[in-house]
Amino acid sequence: MAELEKLKKDLAELVVKTGVNIQKGQRLAIRCPVECADFARLCAAVAYEAGCREVLMRWEDDELKRMKFLHAEDDVFDTVNQWEVEYHNILSKEGAAFLTIYAEDPGLLAGVDPDRIRRAQVSSGKALEEYRTRLMSSECAWSICSVPTKAWACRVFPELSEEEAVARLWEEILASCRVDGGDALANWQAHSEEIKKHVDILNDYSFKTLKYKNSAGTDLTVELPEGHIWAGGDEETKAGLIFSANMPTEEVFTLPDKNKINGTVVATKPLCLNGTVIEGLRFEIKDGKIIEAHADTGEDILKDAIAVDEGASYFGEVALVPYDSPISNSGVLFFNTLFDENASCHMAFGEAYPSCLAGSENMTEEELAERGVNKSMMHEDFMIGSPDLEITGITHDGEEVAVFRNGNFAF
Ligand code: ZN
Ligand code: ZN
Repeated sequence: MAELEKLKKDLAELVVKTGVNIQKGQRLAIRCPVECADFARLCAAVAYEAGCREVLMRWEDDELKRMKFLHAEDDVFDTVNQWEVEYHNILSKEGAAFLTIYAEDPGLLAGVDPDRIRRAQVSSGKALEEYRTRLMSSECAWSICSVPTKAWACRVFPELSEEEAVARLWEEILASCRVDGGDALANWQAHSEEIKKHVDILNDYSFKTLKYKNSAGTDLTVELPEGHIWAGGDEETKAGLIFSANMPTEEVFTLPDKNKINGTVVATKPLCLNGTVIEGLRFEIKDGKIIEAHADTGEDILKDAIAVDEGASYFGEVALVPYDSPISNSGVLFFNTLFDENASCHMAFGEAYPSCLAGSENMTEEELAERGVNKSMMHEDFMIGSPDLEITGITHDGEEVAVFRNGNFAF
């Protein structure tokens, strides 16, 4: 057990120093389930030691969240408290760092009125737009990591006892973040540099089109806007601060031209969306827009999600992850997008990261839209990787290049 306590400290140090890269005099806003308070304390200790001005806590609790969705007055879901809005706006404007420790029970909101979930999403999406835009355009350093809760661990390892499941999930999380008892920060750095190699190759090709095909039924053509930028591993804020938004991460990603995606895409893993597990997701896409959406479970939640606003039925991200990535090879289905998206090629419906387009910082919203950059209050990754996925890139000169063969990078 002493060993695990040391590794938890190493993870806390990694997410605070490398994840949000806390600076002297900066404030750190942490969002964390109460059940994981011990981990939040470890993070706060690292932050203060590094000269953080103040750690601000937002505690969350699955049971209270479910209770609210079941029993609160109905119009609660159409409003957001003004102090909530100001908290996020003030902190993001001053350049605070945001750390989310995400460990929600994947089935938390099963059976809740889907209309309440939809309205809550719309109202918080609108109210927190200013904050979200700052994070999406890297004005602040932010990071998401996860630590086990009992409910989540038991969902992932239903065959184990609660205690064993939590221990096993810790093992998986630590391994995926390269926390192995050695120098966790150096391990992460080396991993991030590996990701950058694929980023560089993809940016050199600057493909016009990607064609996806596999036996699961995906048959898709995705056009990338001119000036798109592949990113992955470390990111940089506008002020030049290096941070890592996702821990773990395996992906390289960019944005598609929102109006130029055509074909069929079939998910290869379940998606946990708004506390509901969505299985067998399948989209038909025409000129970038989802014209048909199907799922074997949670179809109503899925349909509500892509109808939240105009941009929610268009796409904002394409990401490449080798089928042989460590998270994928673990064979574990995490029911947590942070992990499952890093085990699989994926796309996101909803908002694009404007930082994936060269020169975007000087473009107006209209100019961004003209260049095919999608705007939405949604950004939801869904997983489409498979061992037989083939992706072919077509350059602006019409040259065809194998990007993925048999689920892995061909270069
Ligand atoms: Zn992604
Ligand atoms: Zn994403």
